[in-house]
Amino acid sequence: MRTYRIPLVPGPTTVPPEIRAAYQEDYGSADLEPEYYDLYAETQEMLRTILGTHNQVVIMTGEAMVALWGALKSTLRPDDRVVAVATGVFGYGIADMARRLGAVVEVVGFDHDEAADPERVEEAIRRVRPKMVTMVHCETPSGTLNPVAEVGELVARYEVPLFYVDAVSSAAGVPLRVDEWRIDLCMVGTQKCLSALPDLGIVTVSERAWAIVEEVGYVGYDALQPFRTALEDRWFPYTPSWHAMAALNVACRRVLREGLENVFRRHAEVAAYCRERLRAMGLQLFPRREEWCSPTVTAVKVPEGLPWPELDRRLRERGMAVGGSLGPLAGKVFRIGHMGAQADLDLVRHGMEVLEEALRG
Ligand SMILES: *Cc1c(COP(=O)(O)O)cnc(C)c1O
Repeated sequence: MRTYRIPLVPGPTTVPPEIRAAYQEDYGSADLEPEYYDLYAETQEMLRTILGTHNQVVIMTGEAMVALWGALKSTLRPDDRVVAVATGVFGYGIADMARRLGAVVEVVGFDHDEAADPERVEEAIRRVRPKMVTMVHCETPSGTLNPVAEVGELVARYEVPLFYVDAVSSAAGVPLRVDEWRIDLCMVGTQKCLSALPDLGIVTVSERAWAIVEEVGYVGYDALQPFRTALEDRWFPYTPSWHAMAALNVACRRVLREGLENVFRRHAEVAAYCRERLRAMGLQLFPRREEWCSPTVTAVKVPEGLPWPELDRRLRERGMAVGGSLGPLAGKVFRIGHMGAQADLDLVRHGMEVLEEALRG
């Protein structure tokens, strides 16, 4: 299917017409025009409000992974000690990425159906005294939300230099307070709760992190360093995508126009509704405790006697797409993405009716 009639994949999410329209203009050169710098500055300011930070916001061309890699490579050196909190595919994946950069990584691992326990993280921080703690806010493949605020308190108490948080599928869907939670590097994408195209990677960078970026001196396409002074110097390390920035600007404007609290409430209400309907169908949520479920995505166990490929086929026949899962959960779990423009009660109600029908055969 090229276009989903009932789009419920947990990213990339459906792109509303207002955001799509931003891509249609024939923009000039972003390197030459002051309007582009104004657009970048204004978008940065809106992201600060959405993410609860006064820090600089780096906006790179690419997808969310460019932000995850760029932030790691810009701050880690071989033999640096990292405590990686891992509760799912992305958490374990980030641990692997850091290891491949030569860091010495202590994984604080949990099962995929649970959220992190800060006590075990504290034990590791005390023992390892890491340069960096990594964590994923919403672990999208398992539908869980991790206690970032609590781990942030530990990071502050033990004076860990860097707190690295993947908030790709939580930012603009659930409360996220970068400064209050002492996050030094917060990574966000455009194709989840912001409902734009997968074309930009966003990183908030604290002053503490900038000092380490200068010390490490990493150079490369995904390096953070050139963005530190890009606005003042009127110089980006490569030609920016004006189209993508214009779309992100509209996406942020939509979030702030609705109001952050309203956006969070909409996500929570739609998630609660979705879970109630799933339970009524006799389906089981994947996270072991409901309090661990993320308001942006619901992970459900594939029902016995109905293999995932067959369920997927029946849904697609009816114009509906949801996510399967990844890694060890492939074939066992499927996911309903109710984030961004898909956190829509009518859409999810429709989706649940189709799912009911598909389960009946
Ligand atoms: C979507 C997502 C990313 C980006 O990964 P892609 O597979 O490239 O889309 C990173 N982290 C999390 C938690 C995500 O949900």
